[in-house]
Amino acid sequence: MAGVSYPYPYEAKVSQTLFDRASLVTPGGVNSPVRAFRAVGGTPRFMVSGTGPYLTDADGREYVDLVCSWGPMILGHAHPAVVEAIQAAVVRGTSFGTPGEGEVALAEEIVARIEPVEQVRLVSSGTEATMSAIRLARGFTGRAKIVKFAGCYHGHVDSLLAAAGSGLATFALPDTPGVTGAQAGDTIVLPYNDLESVRAAFAAHPGEIACVITEAAPGNMGVVTPGEGFNQGLADLCRANGALYISDEVMTGFRTSRAGWYGVDGVKPDLMTFGKVMGGGFPAAAFGGRADVMGHLAPAGPVYQAGTLSGNPIATAAGLAQLRLLDEAAYEKVDAVSLQIQGLVTEALTKAGVAHRLQTASNMFSVFFTEGEVRNYDDAKKQEAFRFNGFFHSMLAQGVYLPPSAFESWFVSTSHDDKAIERIAAALPAAARAAAEATA
Ligand code: PLP
Repeated sequence: MAGVSYPYPYEAKVSQTLFDRASLVTPGGVNSPVRAFRAVGGTPRFMVSGTGPYLTDADGREYVDLVCSWGPMILGHAHPAVVEAIQAAVVRGTSFGTPGEGEVALAEEIVARIEPVEQVRLVSSGTEATMSAIRLARGFTGRAKIVKFAGCYHGHVDSLLAAAGSGLATFALPDTPGVTGAQAGDTIVLPYNDLESVRAAFAAHPGEIACVITEAAPGNMGVVTPGEGFNQGLADLCRANGALYISDEVMTGFRTSRAGWYGVDGVKPDLMTFGKVMGGGFPAAAFGGRADVMGHLAPAGPVYQAGTLSGNPIATAAGLAQLRLLDEAAYEKVDAVSLQIQGLVTEALTKAGVAHRLQTASNMFSVFFTEGEVRNYDDAKKQEAFRFNGFFHSMLAQGVYLPPSAFESWFVSTSHDDKAIERIAAALPAAARAAAEATA
């Protein structure tokens, strides 16, 4: 990218050529903004293959992957059992537009794992899941207003693109053109981890709030753990005020435990949303919850929701194969890998004298370049994000692929073995020095 100076002498010639081609035919050269490396500068790597914890780019360089496709690849890339399930499904045909047994089996697996989910509807992306859950909450309650938290990202749903995290945190855009006042006007945005403000919102809008939606444990402003009693407080306030509590587990679902974040804090939502891990690397997502609420969905009820590729047979086969491999031992492994990498990161940054804070939600974690606790989006934005750029490029140059933004969670998998972790350990000291030397 023009104007970017590389702190390390490494090249990505083929990726750059592909990026130049892409930029002519695709806005910004990418199909999802954070992939463009705008926050960190440099050439986005075009990946050609993935195996276990490794990705290989178009220039033939191999990286230890700490993004894992932004969460889904919890077993690593091209896990043999998942590939086998996909291969078996694909030769039977790729889409029928009819019901199929795979969808039933995937729904049964989700319902079996997560007690508050009595019924589930499959969709194709996390965005679709949250959009549909919000519509259902409004249809069920007959109310218009929704509450979300600053820094929480729920996909690019119009009404939820107010003070969202993820790419919007990266670009510091509080909002986006194209969302009308009417679409965002019924969205009340409150500071995260602040129950008092939720109480005040219910008091100010009696009988008007359809739902509160929150990331079960936010990962889109970096990882911010819900404070003690916060999620339970939300559930209680919703119940007391006739609103629905929607826990967005698109990121945490089937990752932070067998039953996602619900398996960690046990707080019972009315509706939940899922994506990422449950699709095994394919576009599969879901929303589900109380049967009496889900019963309002078409064709059982009046709230319309549909999808040509919903419950796609290849996506459900991949998701089901992945979920069936995710037993307690798999989560123990992911947690252990995460802890090990967290320890190495802290050790390197501490040695280099870099003020930082590691925040976790089970095996999800991120590094904030700041000293104090990060409890909400305002705290997150106070970090010295410029330090991340030097850190990121040093890791990249040494063959470790981190999320290209200081406001994202890092993701690990069961496939991150000793060899992969050793490579991360070897790269960290120089990256920590780069962070120490970075200037704003
Ligand atoms: N909700 C959360 C918590 C997410 O992290 C994301 C994506 O990162 C979404 C919803 C949107 O999912 P998708 O990108 O599949 O539309």
